[in-house]
Amino acid sequence: MPDVSPPPHAATPAELTRAAGVDPARGLSAGDATARLSAHGPNRLQEADPVSAGGILLAQLTSPMILLLAAAAVLSAALGDVTEAIVIAVVIALNAWIGFRQEYRAERAMASLQAMAAPVVTVRRDGAATTIPATDVVPGDVVLLEAGARVPADGRLLEAHALRIEESPLTGESVPVDKHTDCVAPDAPLAERASMAFAGTSVAAGRAAMLITATGMDTELGRVAELLHGADAGRTPLQQRLDVLVRNLAIAAGAIVVLVVVLGWLGGESVETLLLTAVSLAVAAIPESLPAVVTITLALGAQRMLRKHALIRRLYAVETLGSVTTICSDKTGTLTQNRMTVVVLDMAGDRRDLSDADDAEQPGPAALADPVLRLLLTGGALCNDTQRADDGALLGDPTETALVAVAARYGLEKGDLDAALPRLDEHPFDSERKRMTTVHALPADASLVPEALREIPAVREAAGRPDRLAFTKGAIDGLLPLCTRVNLRGELVPFDDELRRRALGAAEELAGEGVRVLGVAYRTWPDPAAVPTGDALETGLTFVGFEGMVDPARPEVRDAVATCRAAGVRPVMITGDHPLTAAAIGRDLGLIGPGDRALTGAELEGLDRDGLHRAVREVSVFARVSPQDKIAIVEALREQGHVAAMTGDGVNDAPALKQADIGVAMGITGTDVTKDAADMVLVDDNFATIVAAVGEGRVVFDNIRKFIRNILSGNFAEVGVMVVAPLAGMPLPLLPLQILWLNLVTDGLPAMAFAVEPAEPGVMRRPPTPLGESLLGSDRGRRIVTRGLLLLVLTFVPVYLLWDSGDAAWQTVLFTTIAFAELAGGFAMRSERVSVFTLGFFTNRALVGAVALTVLLQVLLVLVPVTRDLLDLQPLGAEHWALAIGIALTYFAAIELEKLVVNRRRAA
Ligand code: ADP
Ligand code: MG
Repeated sequence: MPDVSPPPHAATPAELTRAAGVDPARGLSAGDATARLSAHGPNRLQEADPVSAGGILLAQLTSPMILLLAAAAVLSAALGDVTEAIVIAVVIALNAWIGFRQEYRAERAMASLQAMAAPVVTVRRDGAATTIPATDVVPGDVVLLEAGARVPADGRLLEAHALRIEESPLTGESVPVDKHTDCVAPDAPLAERASMAFAGTSVAAGRAAMLITATGMDTELGRVAELLHGADAGRTPLQQRLDVLVRNLAIAAGAIVVLVVVLGWLGGESVETLLLTAVSLAVAAIPESLPAVVTITLALGAQRMLRKHALIRRLYAVETLGSVTTICSDKTGTLTQNRMTVVVLDMAGDRRDLSDADDAEQPGPAALADPVLRLLLTGGALCNDTQRADDGALLGDPTETALVAVAARYGLEKGDLDAALPRLDEHPFDSERKRMTTVHALPADASLVPEALREIPAVREAAGRPDRLAFTKGAIDGLLPLCTRVNLRGELVPFDDELRRRALGAAEELAGEGVRVLGVAYRTWPDPAAVPTGDALETGLTFVGFEGMVDPARPEVRDAVATCRAAGVRPVMITGDHPLTAAAIGRDLGLIGPGDRALTGAELEGLDRDGLHRAVREVSVFARVSPQDKIAIVEALREQGHVAAMTGDGVNDAPALKQADIGVAMGITGTDVTKDAADMVLVDDNFATIVAAVGEGRVVFDNIRKFIRNILSGNFAEVGVMVVAPLAGMPLPLLPLQILWLNLVTDGLPAMAFAVEPAEPGVMRRPPTPLGESLLGSDRGRRIVTRGLLLLVLTFVPVYLLWDSGDAAWQTVLFTTIAFAELAGGFAMRSERVSVFTLGFFTNRALVGAVALTVLLQVLLVLVPVTRDLLDLQPLGAEHWALAIGIALTYFAAIELEKLVVNRRRAA
């Protein structure tokens, strides 16, 4: 029989779940899921091949520098110098190996970071909601979606509540489309299949459950996947600036090479020697290892950040973090613990204070005798998405679990309430309205109506009993204007200005103490057909009261705020909460002083451009902000040259995160959409983690500059000797192979050791480095030139005297001295602010090891006759060694002294 089953969007959920062999309420069993996974393969798009070791090696062997060296080898062979050609081939191999190791480490580090950022989804399996990696989703899975979630695969909607999905990755349409569970015509185009959700799209609002019908390359996204390949592989701004730097240095090197060749030719050198010298000098002058070392430094920095719970999603965040001047942070969960406990219940002026201890004794049935209290607790627990796990734990938004917990303390269990009053519809919470509404059916049998609801007159009067009841809960200032009446001990009273003012006053008094206040209201309809949807649900409400909850500050945040201050970084709180609550917590954390207040989103919107600019400079607590306000704040900060980090958790925060220099998403409470938009994810949702990441970012940037300074001052001296010697009437001071060796020594092992240089003392006690400041340092390279000159003079003058006195070992002394001095200088350049004696000589083990190994090789090169002959070196006497070591130590001491003087002057 031919397969005539309709496409999933045209089939009913029941048909599909039957065909898929799955009970939608329980989901797949673990065993079934494993079998399906091996049958269908992982839910993943085929990617372009990951970078392979072979590929990296090939790229290395075809790099310009290696080609340059190969040309030199061929040239030597052609000129008949076979030994030299072989040695150059060995140098090529060594260079390629070092380059390969550097690149390979960089790639591996990047790949492991990407694996950490892999998305997860919530599925129903074996009757319980569990979280699995998105790649493990199989056809037949029941996936649960909520606002901000990314749809992991294609599927048919089984349940949809006010669901809207943003499908731009598939359809290009950026306005979210409404989705439902009704069947759609079989031939409907993709954009009109409203009963389906597709991989790659994301939930803009609402909640849903979907039955997966296609995964991986079988999805609609899989069909267009070729178009999406290679996203996000761009080089970071730092890497781009580096490319420019290397290119400029190469041009300068070219000019110098021409100069040296001309000088040598005038001095009577042979054409062969000059050609080889030209090639080796070019190799020496170009810091070809720079890009790879910088990538390693960034990637290692990202790994250190991860150890401190900051997951880097885009590599440029590592370098930008060090320049952050302002950190804009959410309050709830980031500055505070997000462990809400209800401490106050207020029924239109009748206030109950509760102990905030979890183990406080049960209030007992006597407390429940107050009917409106029962109504308040019932509303708070019903208008609520909390779920109770099998072990009794409450799962959900802490603001909501607190309401369920307090109701349970009074003996009102959410599960019982839900069973008696099933939820029919909802208007989900969003951070714009700052409230939510749920619509419930009343039981047909009047005796089953919970006692609490008898306090609603319309329910009590059996004759006119309404069929539908809705509870709204949310921010009190927005809720009160929607209420036309208030339920005062079961009597309905018009909500006049006087009563409204009193309710608001009571709420504000609490907010001033840092308490988060949530109001509860309801509305009834005798006719089910009359129940509206959306915003119209939230009109003509009857006010019940409010619940006040506390959320203690995270203990480590106060220190983190102080660290920010010392580091010239301004911490700013941006919250949807009440301005008085926000200001109280801001004061507690040291964000603002005792007399300061919070600026609200509404006040912000009333400001002109200048006012806005001043506000974002001066105000450190913003309250009742909407996602649009967040964007305005970030833009105003950036327009004034600030480098802003901005946190966010909800779907609506994604645009502000994209706008910020560093978008920060929450690892625990954050949605997929905000994580996608973010540059960094806080694994522990903690503000202190951002501050730690800023510190690491500074270390990374510092280390890159140290490395650049070290390598360029060395190159300057090497090239300088080659230019100065012929001018002084000497022959070419270093032979091609000697230059190549020196290049290996300085660009090789010690260079990489700078990537792991630990933080200097005081990194978080100085102002941030301006974004885009020269890679050569705030002095734009002055120190590189003076040190290069110093090294040039220190090495050239004694060597000139040796040569002049007829000592045959002059060239070998120069060769050895430059190698030793560059290593010693590298040690001194581990810090520009602190003496190496303060840092400790052995605090960078990698550098100690690399230097020791290099010194050993250098000494062997001169001592072993074979290598000595290969490199045209002479045996050195004790006085020669002493000279080389003495010059290296002098260079080291000179840099240390310079640091001392400069830092004295800076301190004065
Ligand atoms: P925050 O910046 O503290 O995370 P939110 O944007 O989460 O603030 O919340 C803003 C306001 O919305 C809160 O002050 C509260 O009044 C209200 N609110 C928060 N969560 C809920 C919820 N689940 N249901 C109803 N109202 C809520
Ligand atoms: Mg929140």
